[in-house]
Amino acid sequence: MDLDYAIVRSPKRRKLTITVERDRRIVVHAPESISEARIREIVDSKRQWLFEKIRHEQKYNDEPEPPGKELVNGEAVLYLGRRYRIAIADTESGEIEFSRQFVVPPRIAASGSKAFANWMLVRAEQQILPRVKLHARQLGVSYRDAEVSEGRFRWGSCTPRSSLRFNWRLIKAPMFVIDYVIIHELAHLIEPNHTPRFWNIVRAQHPTAEKAKDWLREHGALLEQNL
Ligand SMILES: [Zn+2]
Repeated sequence: MDLDYAIVRSPKRRKLTITVERDRRIVVHAPESISEARIREIVDSKRQWLFEKIRHEQKYNDEPEPPGKELVNGEAVLYLGRRYRIAIADTESGEIEFSRQFVVPPRIAASGSKAFANWMLVRAEQQILPRVKLHARQLGVSYRDAEVSEGRFRWGSCTPRSSLRFNWRLIKAPMFVIDYVIIHELAHLIEPNHTPRFWNIVRAQHPTAEKAKDWLREHGALLEQNL
């Protein structure tokens, strides 16, 4: 997978800087004028340095909870690329329910965003795993197993032993982005490196792959949050 990073632009900024946050997110602070392609080039040239920083566990401990949204009435949450409101109210099932909005029973809301994240993880499994199967069939590849998990850094990964892992937070992204990440990882079963051949395979399977990459670059930081 590529390095994921968020771009923060500012008209006052003259120079580009890359920082690794405590939660290992990469943030590029850039002047207004610099193109996305150029930013990608610069980030790519620092790949090794960035991977080392991210893997430096002592300095970059996982934060228990990224700052941001709270599980309260009226909060908007991303799901499949759209925003839906949270309503705190009792439900018939006693569990979280979803139809045009998320209805979260007060008992679950009180236990914090972790309960909501767990519920989202199950949703992510239901949506992502069948699509892994589908795309694998279309690409003519087979894999050992596929799993949706609590990965913090990568959206997807593929081990040399053909095990696929997907970050449950992907469920916040639109389906064409989810499909891109799935196809990207499956294409690694054919071509392990990001060679021109690799990108040809990805683009042949997913005509809007570039748009999906842009979406992830722009909104990656949003996806990192638990809510
Ligand atoms: Zn890759």
